[in-house]
Amino acid sequence: MNIRITQFFISGTIYVTSGLKYPKLVLDKYVFTVTVKYENKTQWTCSRNNSRKHEKRCGARLVTCGKTVHLLNKHNHDPVVDDKELRKMIPQLVTIIRGVQ
Ligand SMILES: [Zn+2]
Repeated sequence: MNIRITQFFISGTIYVTSGLKYPKLVLDKYVFTVTVKYENKTQWTCSRNNSRKHEKRCGARLVTCGKTVHLLNKHNHDPVVDDKELRKMIPQLVTIIRGVQ
């Protein structure tokens, strides 16, 4: 049986760095970096997407718009951030929209 869920909304926590030239965002212990900034939203891609070290580039992306985070695609690898690193970052409560494929 095939059940397809297209989207669901939850509230959750993201972690951001501050004061860096290239900000980072962490969701579910995955790191995202900014790719495109629009007037009122920002597009981020998984840090494993633009690294040449990794054979299989990760296709996970997200779009932030105010306090809403829209996650697109799934990661093809394990989480990359540990708790120690997270404690150095700034938590933000947001609404997370997950597109499930
Ligand atoms: Zn990824």
